[in-house]
Amino acid sequence: SEPPLDELVAAVAVDIPDFPEPGVVFRDLTPVFADAGVFRRVVEALAGSVLEDPRVGALRTGPDDPGFDVVVGVEARGFLLAAAVALVAGTGVVPVRKAGKLPRATVAAEYALEYGTAVLELHTDSVRPGQRVLLVDDVLATGGTLEAAAGLVERLGGVVSALSVVVELPALGGRERLRPHTVHALWTT
Ligand code: AMP
Repeated sequence: SEPPLDELVAAVAVDIPDFPEPGVVFRDLTPVFADAGVFRRVVEALAGSVLEDPRVGALRTGPDDPGFDVVVGVEARGFLLAAAVALVAGTGVVPVRKAGKLPRATVAAEYALEYGTAVLELHTDSVRPGQRVLLVDDVLATGGTLEAAAGLVERLGGVVSALSVVVELPALGGRERLRPHTVHALWTT
């Protein structure tokens, strides 16, 4: 029988000590994306894990409704996952991008990085009021990135159904920071 998905991801992901700076252990998921079988299981789990979320359940209109209308992915590794999750779930996909990349009118949010700040943007017409959104990224660390992305969705009147990540680093408190949103993580380490 197949090993549990968290063990599989842990075995295939590569930990890079002191990247991009001393003291950080970088979780490199590119080998997870490159492995056809693991990638498929990861994508199906990201789309499927939210179905058991009671908060998402309350938003579902029937057995064929995943509880979200669109998948929003965060630049850049979130894009690789979000498009695949959207295809599996039967929805479209929308990018949250770093400042200056989106060509039309945007809403923008500044958020704190370990050193300095960064800005994320979302096209103002890419999420409609009342639309239900699944937010996807590769790694949840402090939660600052997903907090900013969720705030953009909500400023456009969107409803955040849930947040899905492959890896959660629980020591950094991202899950608590993102409350009341629910975080689904395939591997918590
Ligand atoms: P945060 O905003 O602190 O939750 O950081 C999340 C963002 O930074 C995600 O887009 C991740 O891709 C990236 N990130 C943060 N920490 C790590 C890490 N240890 N390994 C890989 N990516 C990370």
